[in-house]
Amino acid sequence: MATHKIAVVGGDGIGPEVIAEGLKVIEAAGVDVQLTNYDLGGARYLADGTILPDETLDEWRHHDAIYVGAVGAPGVPPGVIERGLLLKMRFELDLYINRRPFLLKGPGGHDFVVIRENTEGTYAGEGGFLRKNTPHEIATQGSVNTRRGAERAIRYAFELASTRRGHLTLVHKTNVLTFSGDLWQRAFDDVAKDFPDVETDYNHVDAACIYFVQDPQRYDVIVTDNLFGDILTDLGGAVSGGIGLASSANMDPTRSAPSMFEPVHGSAPDIAGQNKANPIAAILSGAMMLDFLGEADAAAAITAACNAHLDATGSTTEIGDLIAGVVRGH
Ligand code: ATP
Repeated sequence: MATHKIAVVGGDGIGPEVIAEGLKVIEAAGVDVQLTNYDLGGARYLADGTILPDETLDEWRHHDAIYVGAVGAPGVPPGVIERGLLLKMRFELDLYINRRPFLLKGPGGHDFVVIRENTEGTYAGEGGFLRKNTPHEIATQGSVNTRRGAERAIRYAFELASTRRGHLTLVHKTNVLTFSGDLWQRAFDDVAKDFPDVETDYNHVDAACIYFVQDPQRYDVIVTDNLFGDILTDLGGAVSGGIGLASSANMDPTRSAPSMFEPVHGSAPDIAGQNKANPIAAILSGAMMLDFLGEADAAAAITAACNAHLDATGSTTEIGDLIAGVVRGH
């Protein structure tokens, strides 16, 4: 049995609490892991200014995966942790796929997946100020879209759709964003030729917001750009049972670098340290990590246990114990 080397960043607030439960469940599934803990996040930044040293990134390249709780703390200026830690990790390790699955509560339990391009768009950091802090101030924030970047996200989404229900929706705003939208649409149409069995659709992002609320059953796999994906996946979390259940993967499918797995939610300082946070999102993120590491059976057992207990109530550790117990008895 392979030992998987995992870099663990519990992070801030509820991050360490939910990651502890995720690791408990991984152990219950009988998967052999070797953990390296990294003290990073908002609290570390406030303590000594460290955000994400290059040496740490180099060490991570020798791990199989990175498992993150949540980073961010009150008192840290906006953007410091987001750009310096999360975006740096995505860009430096080229984690170009952000994969977020959703399971709707209720009979039938329809599930769908959003594939968000994770390294370009308005997040690339292109732009700047002119005449800052004057009445004539100008700020620009460009959207960077490369054919290669769009195409590799789209291809990944087609491949995923072909292993599921064979339906892929492109979400963009091609009627207004006529340059980036055009590039995305042409890349989508070209890649579609390689997947004749996948049925395709297109929604403007504003329409997609309505469908997410009123008719999410129409979706199987969605592919979209970085900013639309960010917003749409928070909406996905809200319509599918809440932020405490939403898991995510930041992936390099080529495996040149370790992929990173984290719950969608943040550090939730309002409930930190109270054993109140729902650990399911972190546990499901751990299951995605195991699946990516080739531990398909363990991943399926954990996912099934979580899906059977989406309504579980209790403390963080009680829910973790419950899921670990179900997985152990599997
Ligand atoms: P950050 O700045 O780190 O993103 P935030 O408070 O702005 O933190 P979240 O951490 O996502 O954003 O929290 C938003 C709300 O959702 C908060 O009221 C928080 O208590 C709640 N919340 C987030 N995660 C969970 C969870 N796992 N279980 C229960 N409630 C949660």
